Amino acid sequence: MRTQRQVVDYSLQRRALLRDLHNGKIGTLEVCDASPYLKNAARFHGEPTDERCPVCRRDNLTLVHYIYGDELKQSAGQARKLAELPVLAMTLREFQVFVVEVCQTCAWNHLTEQFLLGRDALTPDERPGGALAASSASGRHRETGSSSLRREGRQ
Ligand SMILES: [Zn+2]
Repeated sequence: MRTQRQVVDYSLQRRALLRDLHNGKIGTLEVCDASPYLKNAARFHGEPTDERCPVCRRDNLTLVHYIYGDELKQSAGQARKLAELPVLAMTLREFQVFVVEVCQTCAWNHLTEQFLLGRDALTPDERPGGALAASSASGRHRETGSSSLRREGRQ
């Protein structure tokens, strides 16, 4: 996604965890503990992948995208479909995305990456509506001003 920034990749931690699992340092139950909420999110909002589950190898992994940020208000902390993210990124200034991989068969789950999305990353010319939208802040004030003038004129 074009406005993606501040990407944090957790693949090293994932690899270390899987190594510990294969060495028997930790048990499957400790890492295959996806909550019912996470499994539901994977089923209804998840993005299927071609990658096999590294633990059970019986199912492909599903990616769940969780969104966080003040601008989201009551939607903060919800899972969203991948296709919804570019739309949100054009609407909101900034929000955080956490990507969690889930195996719906054995309940393996791990945070794969996190990043920021939102139109704050765009230059004024790239923002929706182009250069016109860049001046919309002042334009909006003018419009409000003129409409209130019109209202006063009518009185
Ligand atoms: Zn699995």
